[in-house]
Amino acid sequence: MPTPATILSILGLEHSGTTLLVRILHSHPDAVSIGGMKNLADFATGRRACSCGASYGDCPVWLGVESELQKRGRQLSQLSDAIKTGDAATIGDFFASVAASSHRPLLIESSRQPSYLDLLPGAPDFRATAIHIFKHPGAQAWSAHRAGRSVLREMRHYRRRSHAILRRLSDHPAALHIGHDDFCADPDIHLRRILALAGFQPDPQQLETWGEKEMHIIGGNRMKRDRSSAIKTDAAWRQSLPLVPRLLARLLGGAPYRRNLAAARACADL
Ligand SMILES: [Zn+2]
Repeated sequence: MPTPATILSILGLEHSGTTLLVRILHSHPDAVSIGGMKNLADFATGRRACSCGASYGDCPVWLGVESELQKRGRQLSQLSDAIKTGDAATIGDFFASVAASSHRPLLIESSRQPSYLDLLPGAPDFRATAIHIFKHPGAQAWSAHRAGRSVLREMRHYRRRSHAILRRLSDHPAALHIGHDDFCADPDIHLRRILALAGFQPDPQQLETWGEKEMHIIGGNRMKRDRSSAIKTDAAWRQSLPLVPRLLARLLGGAPYRRNLAAARACADL
């Protein structure tokens, strides 16, 4: 296992393209997605199943991680307390166990919230990189409206999460901000940028075969593999978003969106 292994954190709002990005990155032969580490405690205590359908104790991938943890005198069930107390040694052993059992040096973590960045292990064993993906507030409002979620709450969430991510990443040594529309317009070039940041070359087949490699993640969006509709710029909201959600998106989401775009422009040469 090359040292340091790289942890690539995916940040953004739920329903903002994070799952798509995770699935594409996971299809790289050197990468493995662990999902959001916040969900693993629920898995270890039987409250959630792995995305492969198996429960804790039956999923061969997580049994492999558990076996590596045991060599380090740990258990997966300790991760919840380690996250609560900021126990860096246990969390570091967890990531080392994932890298050792998967034989993959690129670990994709997708808790989405910037507060988790402070918990991730760093040098000398790990290198931390982060990708922030964001949608236009109109597209985010449309997603909430269609699913019956409160658009007001969604826009407040959009504003808060954008602010927290921009603040947290302002002095991060290896971070990219990418608009979802930009990513979908040219996934090849943005995938190349993301992997270059993490120190890897894209796999030539990655944008064709993503979704075929089974993921073993806990929680998250059970997105079906449907490339024709998945890597596509959001456009429907421009015609279909009703007036009140449209106004909420503009009033609450406009300023954070402009700041997100400015951050994306500032890192455009990376
Ligand atoms: Zn599994």
